[in-house]
Amino acid sequence: MSTVATRPALKSGIDDTVFICDAGSGIRELGKDLLSRDPMPKDLHLFITHTHWDHIQGFPFFNPAHIRDCRIHLYSAGDGDNSRYALLSGQMSSAYFPVTFGDLQAEIISKSLNGEKKIDGVKVKSVPTNHPGGCFGYTFEKGGKRIAYITDNELEIADDVEFPDNGNTGQHREAP
Ligand SMILES: [Zn+2]
Repeated sequence: MSTVATRPALKSGIDDTVFICDAGSGIRELGKDLLSRDPMPKDLHLFITHTHWDHIQGFPFFNPAHIRDCRIHLYSAGDGDNSRYALLSGQMSSAYFPVTFGDLQAEIISKSLNGEKKIDGVKVKSVPTNHPGGCFGYTFEKGGKRIAYITDNELEIADDVEFPDNGNTGQHREAP
């Protein structure tokens, strides 16, 4: 796994599959990196935790979205009506950006990920977090190893829970 971002947008390459978490400003540099590869990966899996501005504002500048034979599998959790997709695409209405979502050359495939799903042999699970407006983290698991991407989450810490948990033993150290 390698990070390429200054703002929420994290890329993990498990085998040849490209998983991208969020589309903050860091996704711009990731797009340039992906385009420089030979061959360029054409199927990209993008997981949106929530649509607060700092998690989506880089998407219009993600070069692979402007490449004709690229497919972006866009995952979100929580809403069965793909409203996160609508919010992500809405930031590209002509009032905000000169290229509309409909003008993108890549195929954007919106998918719900509530619970878990196998993607190219990797078990991906969505995990709700505690954040205004709702937010989800994601875990990626293969071969007994697991990566968790948990961003915005306000922990509710009961009075009888030791925090910070310097002994690394409390309930807030349990991975989802
Ligand atoms: Zn947020």
